[in-house]
Amino acid sequence: MNNFENGKCKIAVSEAMGRYLVAAKSLKQGDLLLCEQPVIIGPYWGSGLCCLTCYKRSCKICHKCDVAPLCLDCSAHDDFECNFLAMSNLPKNFLIDNFDVITPLRFIMLSKNPSKVDCYNQVMKMESHCAERRGKSIWSLHADCVIKPLTDVKMIREGDADLIQRYCGILDVNTFEVRTDSFEDIPIRGLYPKAALLSHDCVSNTFIALDASRSIRVYSGGDIAEGDPIWNNYTHALSGTEVRRQHLMEGKYFHCKCKRCLDPTELGTHLSSIKCNGCERGLTMFDEMQNVWRCNFCEKTQDVDALMTLARSEILDEEVSSVPMLEQLIVKYSKLLNPNHYLVVDMKQKLTAIFRNICDYEVAPQPKILQRKISLCEEIIPILRVIQPGISRLKGIALYEYFTSMYELTILNVNDKSISIKEGVEQLLTAEKYAKESLKMLLYEPQSTPEGHLAKKAMLKLKSIRENITLFQKL
Ligand SMILES: [Zn+2]
Ligand SMILES: [Zn+2]
Ligand SMILES: [Zn+2]
Ligand SMILES: [Zn+2]
Repeated sequence: MNNFENGKCKIAVSEAMGRYLVAAKSLKQGDLLLCEQPVIIGPYWGSGLCCLTCYKRSCKICHKCDVAPLCLDCSAHDDFECNFLAMSNLPKNFLIDNFDVITPLRFIMLSKNPSKVDCYNQVMKMESHCAERRGKSIWSLHADCVIKPLTDVKMIREGDADLIQRYCGILDVNTFEVRTDSFEDIPIRGLYPKAALLSHDCVSNTFIALDASRSIRVYSGGDIAEGDPIWNNYTHALSGTEVRRQHLMEGKYFHCKCKRCLDPTELGTHLSSIKCNGCERGLTMFDEMQNVWRCNFCEKTQDVDALMTLARSEILDEEVSSVPMLEQLIVKYSKLLNPNHYLVVDMKQKLTAIFRNICDYEVAPQPKILQRKISLCEEIIPILRVIQPGISRLKGIALYEYFTSMYELTILNVNDKSISIKEGVEQLLTAEKYAKESLKMLLYEPQSTPEGHLAKKAMLKLKSIRENITLFQKL
């Protein structure tokens, strides 16, 4: 599979990056690069018992194999799996008592399925990072909770332990989170051999959508030149460099050296910078070469650990959930850290979400709330434009919040005559511009997802904005 069926990308190999994808020709924003079904799918570690077909909470056992957990709505699961389990003579409670074996067990079933030999060979080419995992807690966890129970019931032999560890490593390193359509939100993951070839960069140039049928679709986020690598961001885009690198090291076993990670300003966004305690003007940033935090103005070095520990404990506290508490901490840490610091941005996002709920349930939201929502979006969107320059889910949602608030506030202001009709038309034209930009991104979302629903709402709002513009222009 060196060339992909639609000819848009191909596999390249280098010593530093291993196997990775590059553009086989010049690509336009929004081009569909690949679409694939998972070869293995299953719950994450610690998900708790769920139905093997739809991943809702389970409440019965498959009557055919007598071991597979199912829900009220499902009467069967995969045929091969059912027969395999039926022939394995497992104790009836085996999967209930050891549910964490299920995803690795599906890997074992793939290896035993004669019609899936090619698939199995393909996934065995994937990185498992066994060398880094051996001897760590993750290794013993899998030894105790996967290998031991499977050996006890003679599903595997003792000599298979290393192979099963490799399966577990491949799953942990390469799977994508998959959305389920259930309300219970049981986290599940899927192994997609082609999509797993996307290498990482903290500024990705792709957009990934997963739909209810669990297929993955990868689009180019912006224009990509022929031969350029195709990147996916494996970590949370809005967190700071230290957090992203730690997450990547723990889950993917590498130290990220992308342009964003190597730039102490994080491409000018200052998501990790901290206000200097020695001068009024400077920002303190991490100097990786010298391993110190240094002010970009007075050059004073500073130990930021105590401040960051305090900030994390105060900001990430679950009790911090009300508007006044968030507003107060935003003021405090905009001064101590900086208004763009990722912990402050995180609070701004939480606050926006609270205001969204208020606006959704109130017939006429207060102008004060709409105004605050607009200013929060104006602070968040420029950061997203830098770290997610192309098609982006976060940006699509933030732009949605922005234009809808702008639209609602304009209507209120025109009605109470605090702005003129001419000003109203101008503001609605601006809202229309952002609505179009938001829709451009949300339209890539599968219809069944929450963002897909948001796209529908955005279209209706855009229609009413246009109707109001026409109406006001006639007045
Ligand atoms: Zn089910
Ligand atoms: Zn069954
Ligand atoms: Zn990076
Ligand atoms: Zn300074």
